[in-house]
Order: sequence, then structure tokens, then C-alpha cells
Amino acid sequence: MSVSQTYQLKAFNTFNIPAYAEYIGIATSIESLLSLWQAAKEKTHPILLLGGGSNILFTENFKGTVILNRILGIEIQESDTAWHIHVGAGENWHQLIISLLNQQIYGLENLALIPGNVGSAPIQNIGAYGVEFKDVCEYVDLIELKTGNSIRLMANICQFGYRDSIFKHQYKDGYAIIAVGLRLNKIWEPTLTYGGLAKFSREDVTPEQIFNMVCDIRQSKLPDPAIMGNAGSFFKNPIISAALAQKIKFTYPDCPQYCVNEHSMKIAAGWLIEQCDLKGYSVGDAAVHTNQALVLINKGSATGQDIIALAAYVRNKVAEKFNIHLEPEVRFIGSEGEIDAVECIS
Ligand SMILES: Cc1cc2nc3c(=O)[nH]c(=O)nc-3n(C[C@H](O)[C@H](O)[C@H](O)COP(=O)(O)OP(=O)(O)OC[C@H]3O[C@@H](n4cnc5c(N)ncnc54)[C@H](O)[C@@H]3O)c2cc1C
Repeated sequence: MSVSQTYQLKAFNTFNIPAYAEYIGIATSIESLLSLWQAAKEKTHPILLLGGGSNILFTENFKGTVILNRILGIEIQESDTAWHIHVGAGENWHQLIISLLNQQIYGLENLALIPGNVGSAPIQNIGAYGVEFKDVCEYVDLIELKTGNSIRLMANICQFGYRDSIFKHQYKDGYAIIAVGLRLNKIWEPTLTYGGLAKFSREDVTPEQIFNMVCDIRQSKLPDPAIMGNAGSFFKNPIISAALAQKIKFTYPDCPQYCVNEHSMKIAAGWLIEQCDLKGYSVGDAAVHTNQALVLINKGSATGQDIIALAAYVRNKVAEKFNIHLEPEVRFIGSEGEIDAVECIS
């Protein structure tokens, strides 16, 4: 098949990788989503569904149709104890939080400033500052693209885990998330377990204070993708055996570790990278961020291959020093669709 790569994807991925697609379509309704999907299928094109493009790396040009999910709409209902919010998958996550705060509906403030669309939030079970999407999820609505059938999955069967869910496995191919249902308690309980939030007192802290603090911390720590291309945390925090964690702690008492269960610990990937003196290390225009080692950045003209080469170097150095093999949190998109990110950098 001859392919004319005509549509620039730079504006549709926060890494600002200058890849091209053969076609880009915008779905503003379920009907338009289904007809874009059908048209691409007829051309035997690969198809990529995209929200804000903030959790992906284009490793090369995409030989197919990119469908941008822009299905909007926010409906709020209430029961005695909670707000029930049905949100179109194409709504912006951060703008949703602001809109709910303005209506005095609280519970999402710890998740402020996470880029991307509402419909992508369940996929990797987004999390920050002690709260995860699963804590507020009531259901996720999907559409089976081949048949147009809709499916509602209640939260308890979404298999939410650390940066994981059923939407990365059983419901990955051939399905689109079209809406999510959130349940936010009317009696608001602050979550103050992480970082700078611990300075607040549970008795008098307000949701607005948490929202502002989370925004301040994030803006001071993370590069703004509008200025410096990036996809947030590039690697997952690895889960290692308690024995290895103890060994590392013995040599490095300051190493941040979090208990997962009696056999395993989660260890901060950013700290591991920092210990390898890799802050600022670069391959072409791809670099390890100088303030936040977990974030790989595009200083201007990096390609997907530059980011891969850098990520492979980082993974290798960390493995040499700690015998821990980092895995990307970011999803890699090749010419035909998603490819195995671990394989790419091994
Ligand atoms: C600066 C920065 C900070 C970040 N901080 C955090 C953080 O604190 N915590 C966190 O968890 N994440 C964080 N992220 C990662 C990212 O914001 C989240 O993963 C977000 O949910 C991705 O949303 P998106 O719409 O951009 O997804 P995209 O990148 O557009 O898509 C992600 C994946 O989902 C698929 N997909 C998209 N939409 C649909 C759909 N409707 N149906 C089916 N599949 C779909 C895509 O094909 C792709 O594989 C950060 C990213 C950046 C750039």
C-alpha cells in the first residue's frame, strides 16, 4: 500500500514529536466516532484513538487514521450522599475539576493538572498525591466499534491497579471509551498523605487550598508540555522484592520506598535515575529533565527514535547499578499501532 503521510501530529502529542498520520478525524459524537472507524476499516488502515496525546510516544510516522475523541458533555445528578457525574470522554480532565470545584463538588482536587482527556483517565488509572481514578470511578462506558454496541463496566470489574486497568488488556483493541461515571461524596474528606499537602490540618483545609497547592507543586516540579515536550513520568515506579529493597536501603538509607505488601516494595524510579547521575543527560534533543529525572523531554527537535535511544540508555544504566529493569509508563505508537515499549528499549 502506498501511503501519503500528510497530517502533522505534533500538535496532538505532548512530546511534540513531528510524526505524520495519513488522516486525522475528530469524533464529536458516538455516530461520528463509528463512521470514522468504519471509513478507516474500509481503507484497511490502522486506527489510533487519541485523547490529549499526553501518554504516548510516536516512534515513527503512523500509517493510518488517528481519531481524536472529542465527545463532550457533563451531566450531574445527586443522591442523598453523593454527586453522580456522567462525563463525555472528550472533556478535558483538568477543566472538569475546575468546573466541579466552581459548583462546590469536591474530591478530584488531588488530581489537578494531569493533562489529557476524561476518557483516558481510567486506562492507566491516573493517580497523584494519594488519590487514584479508581477512588472516584462509578463506571466506564465503552462502545464496541465493530458492532456499535455499548457496554457499561462498573468500577469493581475494571481491574484497576497501579497505572493499569482492564482497558489495557481485555478491552484494549476494538473498543472506545465514550464516557465515565464519577461518584463524589457530599461529605468531603481531604487526602493529605503526600508531599507538601501534609502541612495542612484536616480540620480546616479547604478543597480550593489543596487544588492550589497541587497546581503550585506540579508547576514548580514538572515541565509544561506547551513549553518543553514531555509525557510526564516516562517510567513506572518499579515494584521489587522486599529483599532487594532492603539491600538498597542498607547502602542508600534515603532511598524512597513504599510498601506494596509483605513481599514487595515500590521504589521511586526518578530516584534510581538520579543515582546514576543522568539528570540532564541527552541523546540529540532528547534529554533527562534536570529537575525531575523521571521525566524525559524533547528540547526541540527530538524524534521518537531519539527518545527511545535515551530511554534505553537510562534503563541500561539503572539495571547495571541496581539490577532493576525500568518499564515505560508511556505507550509507544509505531507505524501500525501500539508496539511493545519494553521490547523497544531493551
Ligand atoms: C506533564 C504531564 C504530567 C502528567 N502527570 C500524570 C500524573 O500525575 N499521573 C498520571 O497518572 N498520569 C500523568 N500523566 C500522563 C497522562 O496525563 C495521563 O495518562 C492521561 O490520562 C492521558 O490522557 P490523554 O487523553 O492525553 O491520553 P492519550 O495519550 O491520548 O492516550 C493514551 C492511550 O489511551 C488510548 N485512548 C485514548 N483515548 C481513548 C478512548 N476514548 N478509548 C480507548 N482508548 C483511548 C490511546 O490510544 C493511548 O494508547 C502526565 C502527563 C504529562 C504530559
